[in-house]
Amino acid sequence: MAATANVALATSPGGGDNHPVPDTALAKPRPRHGALGRVLHVDLGERRSWVEDVEEQVYRQFLGGYGLGAWLMWKHFPAGTDPLAPEACFAICSGLLTGTGTPFSGRIQIVGKSPLTGTWADSNSGGSVASHLRKAGYDALVVRGKAAEPTLLVIRDGDVTFEPAGALWGEQIPMVFDDLRKRFGGKRDVGVSAIGPAGERQAKIASVMNDRYHAFGRQGFGAIYGSKNLKAIVVHGSGEVPLADPKAWKAISKRITDEYRSSIGVFMRFFVWMAKPKRWLGWMYRLFPRRGMKITAPVAAMRQLWSDRGTTGAVSLSIENGDAPVKNWKGVGSRDFPLRSKSYKLDGAEVDKYVTKKLSCGDCPMPCKGIVKVKDKGLSDVRRPDYETLCGFGAAVLNDDLELVVACHDACNRYGMDAVSSSSTLAWACEAVERGLLTPAELDGVDLKWGNGEAMLALTIKMGEGSGCGAWLGQGVQAASAHLGKGSEAFAVHVHGSEPAYHDPRFSSLMGVNYIADPTPGRHTTGTASWNETFGAGFSLPNAVPKSEVKVAWKGSKNKGQAQAHYSNAHQAMNGLGLCMFTMLTGNLPWLELTRAVTGWDMTDRDLLECGERIQNLRAAFNWREGLRPADFKAHPRMMGEGDGLLTAGPLRGVRVALPVLRDDYFAHMHWSPTSGKLSRARAEHLGIGELLAGHLDGQE
Ligand code: SF4
Repeated sequence: MAATANVALATSPGGGDNHPVPDTALAKPRPRHGALGRVLHVDLGERRSWVEDVEEQVYRQFLGGYGLGAWLMWKHFPAGTDPLAPEACFAICSGLLTGTGTPFSGRIQIVGKSPLTGTWADSNSGGSVASHLRKAGYDALVVRGKAAEPTLLVIRDGDVTFEPAGALWGEQIPMVFDDLRKRFGGKRDVGVSAIGPAGERQAKIASVMNDRYHAFGRQGFGAIYGSKNLKAIVVHGSGEVPLADPKAWKAISKRITDEYRSSIGVFMRFFVWMAKPKRWLGWMYRLFPRRGMKITAPVAAMRQLWSDRGTTGAVSLSIENGDAPVKNWKGVGSRDFPLRSKSYKLDGAEVDKYVTKKLSCGDCPMPCKGIVKVKDKGLSDVRRPDYETLCGFGAAVLNDDLELVVACHDACNRYGMDAVSSSSTLAWACEAVERGLLTPAELDGVDLKWGNGEAMLALTIKMGEGSGCGAWLGQGVQAASAHLGKGSEAFAVHVHGSEPAYHDPRFSSLMGVNYIADPTPGRHTTGTASWNETFGAGFSLPNAVPKSEVKVAWKGSKNKGQAQAHYSNAHQAMNGLGLCMFTMLTGNLPWLELTRAVTGWDMTDRDLLECGERIQNLRAAFNWREGLRPADFKAHPRMMGEGDGLLTAGPLRGVRVALPVLRDDYFAHMHWSPTSGKLSRARAEHLGIGELLAGHLDGQE
C-alpha cells in the first residue's frame, strides 16, 4: 500500500502544492518509539516552516535515512526540476537509530538531485546534525526555496529562525566553524552543516562540511546550499528519542561497545601487525589478485586495524595490488608508483606520524578518524586524509609527497570541495598536458606534470577559489573536458558526470557494478559485495540471506548479480538504520535486535532486508521519473580493461571486465528491466510499493 502523510503543525501559515493543510491528523496517535513521525519543512524564500506528520507505515517500509529521504523526495521534489532552481528541494535525514546513542549511529544523510550528474544523489557523513535534529523532534529536514540574502538556518527544538550569514559568506570552513562555535556552542550544543566558497559559487563538485571535519563530499550538495543562499544549518535539540525497550537497548549497546573495546590478545596483535602493509610484501599483494586468492582477516583484527588507521590502513597495499587506479586509470601501481620507492610514503603508517588526536563521528566505539598537523606547511587542525584523498592526490597523479597530499586535502576541506572529484580532474589535466592538449598558459602559468605536488596544490586552491582556470576545472572532469575539447573527453573518466571513487573494477568487478548500476553513478559506498568478492570477509547481512547466495569467487561472474542484489539491499537497510558502513567490515551488528529495542516493531531479518530493497527501488525510481535509463550510465573503457585500459603489466594485466553483463545480472536479481531500469510490477506488489510507484513500473511508460 502507498503510505500517506499529513501536516500536523505549522510554525507559520502554509499552503501550495507540496504543503498539505493541517487536518485531523493532529488527533491521530503518532508513532512513539524510534520513529518520531515528524519532518520539518523549511522554505528559505518565504522564510517559513511547517511540520509534516508521517505515518508509521512509511518507516516500517523505508526505515529512516536514505529510505525516508527517498520517500520525501519522491513526494516533494518537483520532477524534472533543475537541482539548483529555487523550487528544488533536498533533505537531511536521520537514520532510525541515530540520536539514540546506539553505537555507530553518529551519522547524517542527505538526499536530493545532483547538480553534477542530474541524477538521484545521496551522501553520508559523520557528525551530530542528525542527532540534534532528532532530539529537536524531527526525523528529517526538507529545505526548499532561495533566501533573499545569505542565510543561516537555525533550528532550536521547535523554534526555526533565519539569520543573516553576514560576513561569513565568502569565508572558508575553519573560520565559519570557529565563528559559529562562538555564537552557538560546540558539537554537544549544536550540530552544524555549512559550505565554503566553492559551494557559494555553486561549483558542481562542492561539498558540505559537518561539524567542521566531516563531509557530504560527493554529488555536489554544496552547490545546492549555495543556490539557496544557505551558508549553514545550525541545529540544537534538547529532547530524547523515545525507545520501546530502553533496558534491552542498553544491554545490546553495551555488548557491542564491550566487544569492540575488548583486548584482542597477543596472537591477534601479531596478525594485525602482519596485516599492515610492508614494503617487502609487495610480491604477495600482487599475487593475490593475479590468482584470485582471498585472505579473510579475523573480525577482531579488522576492528583493531580499523581503529588504528581507518581507511588509510591499506593505501600502499591497494596501489600495489591494483585496487587503486593509478595515473588517471591507465597506469600500473607496481610499475609507475611502486610500493618500495613511492606508495609506502602515503600509507597509514606514514600518516600516523602527523596525527595529533583521534576523531570520531560521534557515538562510535571504534573511532577511526584523526586530526593531523604538518608543521612545515603551516597546517594544523586538519582532518586526517583518508584512503580516497591519499590515492587521489597521490597515486592518481603520481605524487608521493605526503605533506603536499595533506595540503591538497586541507584545501578541499577549507573551500568545501570534493577530494575525489577534484583530484580526478587533476589526473585528467595531467594527461591532457602530457598529450600536449593543455598548456601552462591555459593553467595560469602552473607547470602541471605527473608527480608535481606543488602544481597539484596550486590548482586545487584555484579550483576552491574559482579563480582563473579553477573556474572551469572546479566543475568536475566532465565539464572540464567539455571546456577544453580537443578529444580530451575520451580520457575523462566518469560515469554520467560523476568521477568514480578510487577502487578499480578491473580489481573488483562488483565495484564497477556499483558505479554503473547504483542510482548515484560512480558511487562506491553503496554495495559491499565488492569486499566480499575480493577479501571474502564475513560482512554483516541480515540472517535472511543464505550464505550460498552471496558466496562468489574473485574471478569470473558466477552468482555475482545475486550477491550484489543482496548486498545492495542490505547496505540500504543499514543506511536506513543510520549505521556506519564500516560495521559491515568489522563484524555482525545485531541490526534486528537494535531495531526491535528502539521501535518495538516485531520485524524479521527478511523484513529488514526488504526495507533495504524498497529503499534501493525508490532511489532508482527517482531516476526513472527524471527520464534516465540504464544506457545513460556508461562505464568508461579504462574501467573495463578496454582500449588503453587493457593493462600489459602488473597484477591486472590482461584483465577485462564485462560490466554491462554483470549489471544485467544484478538488474535481473533486482527485478529491474535491463532496458528501462524499471521494477517489475509483480515485485513492486510483493514489496507493497506498487501503488506508490504506479505509472513508473516496467511496462508502464
Ligand atoms: S568507524 Fe569511523 S566512520 Fe564509522 S562511525 Fe566510527 S569514526 Fe565514524
